[in-house]
Amino acid sequence: MLELQAVNVAYGEARALCDISMQVKPGELLCVVGPNGAGKTTLVNTLAGILRAKSGRILMEGRDITRLAPHRFCEAGIALVPEGRRLFAGMTVLENLEIGSLLPSAKAKRRETLEEVLQLFPALKPKLAAPAGELSGGQQQMVAIGRALMARPRLLLLDEPSLGLSPLVVAAMFDAIRKISAGGITIVLVEQNVVMAMRISHRACVLELSRIVAEGDPDELMKRPEIRQAYLGV
Ligand code: ATP
Repeated sequence: MLELQAVNVAYGEARALCDISMQVKPGELLCVVGPNGAGKTTLVNTLAGILRAKSGRILMEGRDITRLAPHRFCEAGIALVPEGRRLFAGMTVLENLEIGSLLPSAKAKRRETLEEVLQLFPALKPKLAAPAGELSGGQQQMVAIGRALMARPRLLLLDEPSLGLSPLVVAAMFDAIRKISAGGITIVLVEQNVVMAMRISHRACVLELSRIVAEGDPDELMKRPEIRQAYLGV
């Protein structure tokens, strides 16, 4: 589905991703974990076309998208739920959702996709006419995910969806991500909440200091002493 070949990304002289090579299989839910500053946001922003790789190749469904213009990444079937949600606070929930479906292919199925989004997040139904900025943090995160789904992506990138949410809301958020995955959408999930992310993911990838230091089955990774120490504190 997605393949990165020796991808390097830098902010000026500062390297943020070093020789990242990885694959994501169709339908897979891959979580990317790692400490602050490891390069997780840089990775998803590069996959969303917001940042450019300095070298290396990114293939989506076999097609080289490395040098594609940023707005073409959406056409290639990729949608990002950015860190901090980035909603249009003064616009209604419905308007925020509809912004996600501007591409002709998504627009043609707008009503159907909206139904699916509201089925996933029923709490948004009575809020469609409310300004997005008035919603709770959890509901705003639902809108951000819903907006990305409105584009009918084949690859969904989620950057820290549980950030700043209460434990109960976090659990509901992970449940929703699991459902999206069960629906067949391939997902790359960046998370600080390592335990919960590992629990719902098919495969995990650990980034440290701009490099992949471990990857594999989440249960196996969670058994490794160095991972337990770094992420569970035991
Ligand atoms: P966090 O969890 O804190 O968001 P992260 O793993 O997502 O961390 P990135 O935000 O991708 O990490 O940052 C990777 C590295 O690139 C860090 O050293 C960071 O300081 C640096 N960096 C990030 N954004 C910029 C920028 N706009 N300009 C310069 N350096 C940046």
